[in-house]
Amino acid sequence: MSAVDGVWRRHDPTVEAIPLVFDSPHSGEIYPVDFRHSAARNLVRQAEDTHVARLWSHVTALGATLIEAQFPRAYIDPNRSLADIDPALLADAWDEPLTPSRKTIQGIGLVWRVVSGGVPLYARKLSAAELRGRIDRYYAPYHAELDAIIDARHRRFGAVWHVDCHSMPAVGDVYADDPGRERCDFVIGDRDGTTCEAAFTRFIADTLEAIGYSVAVNDPYKGVEIVRRHGRPEESRHSVQIEIKRTLYMDERTLAPNNGYARLERDLHNLAARLAAYVRERTPGSDR
Ligand SMILES: [Zn+2]
Repeated sequence: MSAVDGVWRRHDPTVEAIPLVFDSPHSGEIYPVDFRHSAARNLVRQAEDTHVARLWSHVTALGATLIEAQFPRAYIDPNRSLADIDPALLADAWDEPLTPSRKTIQGIGLVWRVVSGGVPLYARKLSAAELRGRIDRYYAPYHAELDAIIDARHRRFGAVWHVDCHSMPAVGDVYADDPGRERCDFVIGDRDGTTCEAAFTRFIADTLEAIGYSVAVNDPYKGVEIVRRHGRPEESRHSVQIEIKRTLYMDERTLAPNNGYARLERDLHNLAARLAAYVRERTPGSDR
């Protein structure tokens, strides 16, 4: 295992590597002292994909690599573009062009404005230097490490499959695209078929449905910045997002694992083993 403390941790394959990479950008729980949010910590923690990196940690035994962010997603969100900033959050001018997306308008851009239930995250504005520091010390190193491992696997095998791992509230929050709606067990996102080969998305959805889960594709989550950065199926770089309904494995209020955790972990292990077989079958030059 390699790590930059408080920023990212990389779990390396414990058997021969295959071109399968997982990342968990939102399960970080180490809160930087300069976060200085005004919302209660338990509300800020609702933004985390708590336990997601642990739920997928067994993939290293299949030859896959797992990278996890250790900082909280509400501090700076690796799954947003660097232009996705609300200028109203900043005390100073920003020296690069901004293109706030719908996520920023909803209050959940690169830096969040609101947390669970629409509660304001800050009672202050952030300085431009403060935001620049979060980008330079957390966002950029996380992306650099993920870029490096995906590029290395692609270079060695001629193709790479990447799974961006998340979890979602059971019911859409006020700032979601589906407020008040009960979600399926899993939502697979490939930005409407643009970030990976169609067969990979279908294979994941079919495998989960065969286990007995309800699955939606690209609704309400299509995947955002991370799969957009890495998904170039025409170059044999496949990137897909998997959202897991949190009530399958934890109490959404206390964040404690519930009695479904062990079963979900076992089912994710089975899914990952199927994905590993899928990847090995399609890896150029592989004799397995
Ligand atoms: Zn997430």
